[in-house]
Amino acid sequence: MTDNNNVLQNLDQMQESALKALEQVEDEAGLQAWRTANLGRSSPVMQVFSGLGKVPKELRPEVGRRANEVREALENALNERSEQMRQAALKKSLETERLDVTLPGRPFNRGRLHVATQTLREIYRVFGDMGFQVYRSPEVETDEMNFGLLNIPPYHPARDMWDTFHITTPGVLLRTHTSPGQIHVMRESVPNPVRAILPGMCYRYEQISARSEIQFNQVEVLAVGHNITFGDLKGTLTEFARRMFGENVRTRLRPSYFPFTEPSGEMDVECFVCGGKGCSMCKGSGWLEILGCGMVHPTVLRNGGYDPEEFSGFAAGMGPERIAILRHKIEDIRNFWANDLRFLEQF
Ligand SMILES: [Zn+2]
Repeated sequence: MTDNNNVLQNLDQMQESALKALEQVEDEAGLQAWRTANLGRSSPVMQVFSGLGKVPKELRPEVGRRANEVREALENALNERSEQMRQAALKKSLETERLDVTLPGRPFNRGRLHVATQTLREIYRVFGDMGFQVYRSPEVETDEMNFGLLNIPPYHPARDMWDTFHITTPGVLLRTHTSPGQIHVMRESVPNPVRAILPGMCYRYEQISARSEIQFNQVEVLAVGHNITFGDLKGTLTEFARRMFGENVRTRLRPSYFPFTEPSGEMDVECFVCGGKGCSMCKGSGWLEILGCGMVHPTVLRNGGYDPEEFSGFAAGMGPERIAILRHKIEDIRNFWANDLRFLEQF
């Protein structure tokens, strides 16, 4: 009986001395050492558990209960002390490492789309709404695709309009316009109708200046099918201009010449800078040229695989950078590919 009272008394002492020792602990290492000494496998409390078998049967429940209480009390005390120390450390760091929450945050550099890409995507959206699919074709083309099949034979004077980068393989070049895509998409679609836009980079061997670059985007528009008329061309392009430049924008078609369309035209929109009154942007005319267009030449239709007796079509071509230049009054076309953030971040 005395022995068993001793066990219980010992448990009280264990608790008391362990708690006293815990008060002396000042750091994380001390906490770990205390945990091992007082709650570890060979700690006095745990020894009581493993020695329970030797305690008389009738007293086992009480000794076990008391041992559990002590273990629980020590665990709680440990958690409390640990939290106290954490708070103390936090308080200390707040006092010593002052944080000024009124300082402005560091700004993020937000990415954005290039102004040419923004304009391209707007063009995709407008034509996409009208049922045109985006069709991509190669930037490296054969002479035949870029010129011959588009009704521009080697001796044709229009070749002067497309000063060309030729590569070392004879007959291969960097496309000077997106029009060779017309042949690709027609040959892929024949005999079904075509309603596609062909966007992409074009290259011309030109003196780089504020007004001309050696690389630029173009978007070709092509519709081929039965009974497609000049009225369809006019209606589609006028609707494009309205959606791109504003519901009330006025447009006009002027006759022009391209070897791959007949008849050919150019479309102007009323100058949205001056509203048609005349300004430096429109050089006083009140109109801005935005695209070239025309009915697909019978020879081009035939080269695409369509019988011009049965099929007809219209085509148009525009420059997204030129549209961006007009809209944003960009003065130097070289800005587009100069990678100067001061320019690019404005859009
Ligand atoms: Zn104007």
